[in-house]
Amino acid sequence: MSAILTLNAGSSSIKFSVYLNSDQVSSGDPVGVAVGQIDGLGPDATLILKHDGRTSETQLGQADHTSGLRAILEAIRPVIGTQTVVGVGHRIVHGGVAQEEPVRLDAALLEELAKLEPLAPLHQPHNLAGIRAAMEAFPDAIQVGCFDTAFHRAHPFVNDTYALPRQYFEEGVRRYGFHGLSYDYVSGHVANTYADLADARMVIAHLGNGASMCCVRGRRSIASSMGFSAVDGLPMGTRTGQLDPSVILYLMDQHGMSTKDISDLIYKKSGLLGMSGISNDMRTLLEGDAADTESAREAVAYFVARVKHEIGALAALGGGIDALVFTGGIGENAWQIREQVCEDLGFLGISLDIEANRRRGTEDIGTGPVKVLVIRTDEERVIARAVSAELRGGAQSDRAAE
Ligand code: ADP
Repeated sequence: MSAILTLNAGSSSIKFSVYLNSDQVSSGDPVGVAVGQIDGLGPDATLILKHDGRTSETQLGQADHTSGLRAILEAIRPVIGTQTVVGVGHRIVHGGVAQEEPVRLDAALLEELAKLEPLAPLHQPHNLAGIRAAMEAFPDAIQVGCFDTAFHRAHPFVNDTYALPRQYFEEGVRRYGFHGLSYDYVSGHVANTYADLADARMVIAHLGNGASMCCVRGRRSIASSMGFSAVDGLPMGTRTGQLDPSVILYLMDQHGMSTKDISDLIYKKSGLLGMSGISNDMRTLLEGDAADTESAREAVAYFVARVKHEIGALAALGGGIDALVFTGGIGENAWQIREQVCEDLGFLGISLDIEANRRRGTEDIGTGPVKVLVIRTDEERVIARAVSAELRGGAQSDRAAE
């Protein structure tokens, strides 16, 4: 046995999971043994570790990505015992046009990935900082990159382009799509759990604080609601989702807004938060006092309407729909949203078992010809599998295994 660490490095946090991995060539899935995160990177960092049903919290004080990773290594020592960390898997938001699979990371590739920073300025620099820090903290481990864009790289041209002059497409102005690790996991789980859905046409709704939807056919994404950046498509906690670009021109001309102002507006001040004026958190908008306000109801109604919009669009692009799958914090937990989304979709073959939908933990909640499923996503597992496959000799990302 050996240990695998998965990392998701952001600007002020590092999320991690620890897996034990059999060293046998024909081994099964890595086994998750702990999860945790460092919050508040900077002057006042805290490390939280969940292991064996217990949660511990350690104040780290001043910490950056590098010292944070050393602290993680210290914290997980009792968890991994005598095992060593032989592989570190990284969630990377952007792999550009080139990255279609998980890949072994080295200095040259990091330079290539840094060139993509303008495409994802809020995430990519921090993801890469995490990788550099991990290379320093775990010099003997292999480092594997897993990209949120990779699962979408097989989109046909029409679902990959904007109707701009061709030079921009060649330059990389494309519909990349994101949340690929989640779609990879969820579509694999469905295909392996339900024999009749092995090559199904699925519309998957990853509804979390960040939200997108994806059409999967034959285990590959053929279209995504997210495009060039993670702001397109569905409204999210604080992001607008789809927006007529003329609105931005109007705001620049009439309100004198700068690029930074616009970026703050569309990424941080809009979505559920901006519309409701109350919260970015769906649970707050659905439960308690806020749920009675008109602005909360309207924000939720808009969210639901855009999900319906994407179901129609993605079902049409997929040439039909065999399964509608909900995942992400909202998709997995908010029965009210699933109920409202599926209302009046009988014409597509989608109808809900109202009781099953409200019962926590029920996976199969449909009654019509289209399977309606709730699947808990597991992006870390996809990363751990990719590292495990790389350790076994660069086999592919074990898509077949799940
Ligand atoms: P992220 O994109 O940050 O990973 P998550 O997938 O964790 O986000 O989803 C967070 C969202 O899920 C929040 O809007 C939260 O309110 C919502 N959520 C979590 N549990 C519930 C619940 N029981 N009911 C309604 N919404 C929920």
